[in-house]
Amino acid sequence: MMDNQNRGATWPTWLPLRDDLRDQVPYGAPQLEVSTRLNTNENPFGPSKTLVKDLESAISEIGARLNRYPDRDAVELRRALAQYLNQLSDTRFSEVNIWSANGSNEVIQSIFLAFGGSGRSAVGFEPSYSMHHNIARVTGTSWITVNRVGDFVIDVESARSTIAAKKSSLVFLTTPNNPTGTITSINDIRTLGRICAEVNALLVVDEAYQEFSQESSAITLVDEFPNIIVCRTMSKAFAFAGARVGYLVANPAVIEAMLLVRLPYHLSSATQALALVALSYSRELLANVAHLRRERMRIKKELERIGVETLTSGANFFLFQTDDPKSLWKALLAHDVLVRDVGLPQYLRVTVGSPEENDRFIAALSKALGSSATG
Ligand SMILES: *Cc1c(COP(=O)(O)O)cnc(C)c1O
Repeated sequence: MMDNQNRGATWPTWLPLRDDLRDQVPYGAPQLEVSTRLNTNENPFGPSKTLVKDLESAISEIGARLNRYPDRDAVELRRALAQYLNQLSDTRFSEVNIWSANGSNEVIQSIFLAFGGSGRSAVGFEPSYSMHHNIARVTGTSWITVNRVGDFVIDVESARSTIAAKKSSLVFLTTPNNPTGTITSINDIRTLGRICAEVNALLVVDEAYQEFSQESSAITLVDEFPNIIVCRTMSKAFAFAGARVGYLVANPAVIEAMLLVRLPYHLSSATQALALVALSYSRELLANVAHLRRERMRIKKELERIGVETLTSGANFFLFQTDDPKSLWKALLAHDVLVRDVGLPQYLRVTVGSPEENDRFIAALSKALGSSATG
């Protein structure tokens, strides 16, 4: 079995691995067999029976045509994504504003391939989603950190001085932020867009959790700010993580740049067909998102009742406070509940699950705190 060990100097001598990768560890949370898995921000609600039926017929239709390459530019899917966004945000995008790939991670990698690389740098507001930094490293882009302050909010003035000084080509902002749940206001995003424009930097807004938030989306700024790119995914709100569909919304010039770095036929016929079916169920899937938002409020209240502080979150997860994350993580695992130790000294992160999973989490946390001195 593979595990996430650092091989350090133990790589075989015949393997000409890049020097800068020798000390790296593959990304990934532990995949442990437990009854309550609340550690990777998955959506707990699988597809409904009717959705599964429609997914099946889409697959059997394309089955007969699998000798052919897929639509290389996924035009129909990009058009459907534009329609979905236009309904949510009252915008007027078409396929020329949308790019789609195998998960938003591939979208982010393509952004780095086109606009990063050696001799260039990217800025990120941390703590945040560590794949931004990882992909920067793999593409030879240097990474510059601006620390979030207080309850992990962005200090626009320190962002301004760093961006002006470093002249980076890319600035990454995650909102709602992973792992903290923090929402950056649309006004702050507008200010950051302006700051980035002054040095010809692209502001990449990672909105993987946007549907769980009440704040308006940064896609509403794309017409006004050609340097704003918004990344979204079907993995979280659409409960479609297994299908691997991410996308970005941007000025058409950005989409044309994506065509230069994408692999030909990168998005399989199966992926395109499945995503089109899921998008036709957006009403049903967004009802589940509303359900998860209500669950988020309910669990936070229950935690406060047992004396556990939580941070405000606009996503399908939140941070809760503890003096000893490592011990509490183990104690919860002993009760068959897996949460995420995100490496913050005073917090653990929990994903909002189904009502039953959430009840098991609350009960386990209550027992774990009752039986230990930490709390
Ligand atoms: C989950 C997540 C993604 C990755 O989503 P995929 O579309 O599954 O690749 C991107 N950004 C953030 C902040 C995430 O939490």
